[in-house]
Amino acid sequence: MFRWVREQLSVRVGTVGKVSSLWETAAWGLTDQPSFLNQVLMVETDLTPAYLLAQTQALETEGGRLRREKWGARVLDIDILYIGSEVLDLPELKVPHPYIPERRFTLVPLAEIAPDFLHPVLQLTQQQLLNQCPDESKVEKYLADSQ
Ligand code: ATP
Ligand code: CA
Ligand code: CA
Repeated sequence: MFRWVREQLSVRVGTVGKVSSLWETAAWGLTDQPSFLNQVLMVETDLTPAYLLAQTQALETEGGRLRREKWGARVLDIDILYIGSEVLDLPELKVPHPYIPERRFTLVPLAEIAPDFLHPVLQLTQQQLLNQCPDESKVEKYLADSQ
């Protein structure tokens, strides 16, 4: 699945640059479900934010995602974390993604590939956000090669 998404992004969105490791973490929000694997990718794109969102949502659907309860188990979830230093506050697209500072499973891979990248609103780097993140859930490198 991760490899398929990367290939699709490179065809439909733009050049895939840095790619984090896969990180395994216990489910967040609702906790009585299997753990998640997370990966952060850097993609260079000419798409507008609206087209970018349309493409990632199309990929989610093609990847077999069913819309069910919020935060419930799903096979695939593609979130747009940052678009450079743009700030968007639309109902369908909030950038930077509002939960970044609270989620270790997002900050660990972000700090792995872009430790010095500044959050455009908070003016803190990904490493600083990780250092001050109150989330104590365990985020462990996933070593199997199911990229
Ligand atoms: P969370 O936002 O807490 O990670 P989620 O990923 O489970 O929750 P979804 O059900 O996947 O939420 O998405 C709900 C809606 O969020 C989408 O229809 C989309 O329009 C909107 N949305 C707002 N900001 C973003 C963003 N930065 N990236 C992706 N979707 C976003
Ligand atoms: Ca999400
Ligand atoms: Ca999502």
